[in-house]
Amino acid sequence: MPNKEHLIVACDFHSETVRKLDALYHTHHLWRLSPSEKNSLLTELQGKCRAAAVAAWFVDEQIYELESIELMSSFGVGIDIIDFKRTKTKNIRVTNTPDVLNDSVADVAMSLVLATTRNIVNADRFARSGNWSNSSFPFCRSIGGMTLGIVGLGRIGEEIARRAVPFNMKIAYHNRREKNLPYTYYPTLTALAKESDVLICALPGGEKTKKTINKDILQALGSTGVFINIGRGSSVDETALVEALRNNTIAAAGLDVYENEPNIPEALISMNNVVLFPHIGSSTVETRRAMGNLVLDNLAAFFANKPLLTEVG
Ligand code: NAP
Repeated sequence: MPNKEHLIVACDFHSETVRKLDALYHTHHLWRLSPSEKNSLLTELQGKCRAAAVAAWFVDEQIYELESIELMSSFGVGIDIIDFKRTKTKNIRVTNTPDVLNDSVADVAMSLVLATTRNIVNADRFARSGNWSNSSFPFCRSIGGMTLGIVGLGRIGEEIARRAVPFNMKIAYHNRREKNLPYTYYPTLTALAKESDVLICALPGGEKTKKTINKDILQALGSTGVFINIGRGSSVDETALVEALRNNTIAAAGLDVYENEPNIPEALISMNNVVLFPHIGSSTVETRRAMGNLVLDNLAAFFANKPLLTEVG
């Protein structure tokens, strides 16, 4: 039996997958080590360790420094945390886990659409409050006939659109490039926001999309508009969002992602026209397992000198 390949594991991203990695490779759990233990391990691994498993939310900076690293197999589809300047200079290949999480994230997006437009969380609070016999819960708005604007109509955005069509929502979108799809394309985000009753952000994070949703876009969405974010917190100017909700520039928001996770601004927490989820887009047993399997399959392909399944960058 040949010696097991060395594999760095940056963080405990999914315990079930990490256990499978432990069985297949000579794994090194970086997150368990003190700084000095980590330094000596990485010195020892120079020239021996060719791959690392990382996560969309955590890459240990020291992994880039290991000369022998050729692959980072990342758990998650977002790649905004990867320093592609360094991976390119050092010829490190990168894989992520696209597609297998589309359904889960789109389900969460639709949950936020329904929760915000139908005031679901407040309705639950009202039902528990004991006040039903004294007053009735206020009317909401029907989503049938509303325009759902999607900024970032990619793999996840398309699944959101597919779910919204049977709810009789009209679908509009903005990307940098128009797609051959039966939805209305807006070449500018401002025009999309003006047209939308509900605006969903499904953009990737990173410098290019930083604070794309700003004061002007929220102004364009308007006082009856609802904003949903399931992409990345960095795409939204959170201060502008708080102001827009406070001043009734927009009606409501539903958020799964934040600028500075796991911290949610106190102002958002205190507002009852905001529905807050703790970044649960892909958090189902089945989806996380499928993401983990893709991490494993990319590593297996790499060590077998076969084409990587989902290379990015
Ligand atoms: P994707 O297939 O790459 O889709 C991204 C879309 O955004 C593309 O259609 C792209 O079209 C558009 N886009 C990119 N930059 C843009 C810009 N500057 N202006 C306008 N449109 C732009 O990615 P995906 O797989 O759908 O994932 C999207 C993001 O969702 C991920 O990157 C991740 O951050 C987030 N996510 C969140 C969760 C969660 O738990 N909430 C889970 C998974 C993923 P063009 O290239 O034509 O512009």
